[in-house]
Amino acid sequence: LPEALQTVDIFSETCSSTTDPQSSLTTDFDNFSKSIFSKITTDPAATLPFATDFGNLSESTPGAVFYPSSPEDIAALIRFSHRSPKPFPISQRGAGHSMYGQTFVPDGVLIDMSSLGRGQVGSRITVVDGPVPYADAGGEQLWIDVLNAALKLGLMPRTLTDYLYPTIGGTLSNAGISGRAFKHGPQISNVYELDVITGTGETVTCSREMNSDLYYAALGGLGQFGVITRAQIALEPARKMSRWVRLFYTDVKLLMKDQEKLISTESNLSVFDFVGGEVLLSVRKVAAISTAFKLSENDKEKITRLVAEYDGPVYFIDAVAYYDDITVPSLDQNIKSLLEELHYISGFAFSFDMPLFDFLNRLYYQELARRPLGLWLVPHPWLDLFVPKSKVLEFTSRVFEGILNGNTAAGPVLIFPMNRTMWDDKMSAVTPNEEIFYAVSLLWSAIANDSIILTDLNNEVVSICEKYHLGCKKYLPRYTNQEDWQKQFGEKWSEYVSRKKKYDPKALLSPGQRIFTPLE
Ligand code: FAD
Repeated sequence: LPEALQTVDIFSETCSSTTDPQSSLTTDFDNFSKSIFSKITTDPAATLPFATDFGNLSESTPGAVFYPSSPEDIAALIRFSHRSPKPFPISQRGAGHSMYGQTFVPDGVLIDMSSLGRGQVGSRITVVDGPVPYADAGGEQLWIDVLNAALKLGLMPRTLTDYLYPTIGGTLSNAGISGRAFKHGPQISNVYELDVITGTGETVTCSREMNSDLYYAALGGLGQFGVITRAQIALEPARKMSRWVRLFYTDVKLLMKDQEKLISTESNLSVFDFVGGEVLLSVRKVAAISTAFKLSENDKEKITRLVAEYDGPVYFIDAVAYYDDITVPSLDQNIKSLLEELHYISGFAFSFDMPLFDFLNRLYYQELARRPLGLWLVPHPWLDLFVPKSKVLEFTSRVFEGILNGNTAAGPVLIFPMNRTMWDDKMSAVTPNEEIFYAVSLLWSAIANDSIILTDLNNEVVSICEKYHLGCKKYLPRYTNQEDWQKQFGEKWSEYVSRKKKYDPKALLSPGQRIFTPLE
């Protein structure tokens, strides 16, 4: 047994030697051993598959893996560790789509959230239609399964990430963003209620009205305050089709002017439901942009020529309108009028229609294409930043036109704006302090390039942000010392720390984030 689980042996001895059968230690141990110890294993066949994550940049095998059958099992495990004379760290692992070992727990127990029942008949997703439709889903559930369940009633989550295979608990612990966030905010802004098992093993139902402090703490909380075992997710009526429009720019100022116009909450131009954007740093990137967005050979050639001949990055906006048969005549006209007001390069607007489900699930088709070629589970040194509007032009000039210009590394580079009013500042998630800020994502796949070279490049980008005081905040952040965490959280740090003391006083949960050190 690894050190953490020797606790159980020590506990066992303590309990068997106690003469008071009613002592809380005995009760705890009895409950623990009866109900859950059989669900923990240290077998390498079980622990090794959890030794890495999607980032594939480092390895660390958990001390043990726990397969809960119910949220009560999770509560019992946490309570046991919390009350034990030798508490052990616990990591709740959703789908393991983090990049930098955020779910690692070498000296403790990893909770395999999927064992609560995922993708199976009778899995924990209930969809409730009505004036305020919602899905009640287990924190272990994947967003794709929530979407599929909601679609059966003609509904869909109001906001989704680009990729639908992370868990509810995993994205709600960060924010859950995409080109959809401008309309309804990130996923954390679209949750009515949560069940959270705190670091003391207590199960708390919370919302804006009930136990609101824990609700705000858990949303964007990086798994530090408890295990989210249920979330009530806002739904809206689903459309059947999507029109995907792609507009190209060489002038980043015009790109941003148009992106900001498209996300404006004041404008009545809300034709589009999704507004994203991407940067083409070199001509080698062009081939990858037509996997989901179907371009004719002629159009591909035209774009290739544009990128090859232009001495600098080329940008594009992805604007998508969700529609069904009833709305289509007005949609054609609305899109046509809107495009006339935008500033893309003449002749460089492309459009095609596809079922909305296929648009929402577009990354999965890329995954299916890349897996057999060995291009999916490669190292992913990703860097995600939020850049305030006032500094974004300086950022693009120093980074895209500067150190990254001509870069040929594989993986998309995203840039799109969001409105801060759609975020709730009481939540743990951190954004720059301006009404509009841009998500910039360097989603590298270390195929041709070494992951160390790409990591160095990321570090250089972060150094530029710091050196020129660009006010950037990391999304899906990774730091290894508390000073940097304090900087990341800024004004929210002291509240973050006091919430940690309140909800996880022994700092047992999600130690792989490396924010707090578990207490003995
Ligand atoms: P894990 O990696 O398993 O865990 C991440 C963290 O959350 C850990 O600290 C863990 O302890 C904690 N955690 C997990 N489950 C729970 C729970 N139930 N309760 C409390 N804490 C929990 N993000 C976006 O916002 N938008 C995107 O468009 C997007 N696209 C992506 C595309 C791909 C291909 C990948 C790999 C990732 C993408 N992400 C995106 C990032 C992803 O949303 C986050 O990494 C998310 O945390 C992954 O969820 P997971 O279930 O895999 O979590």
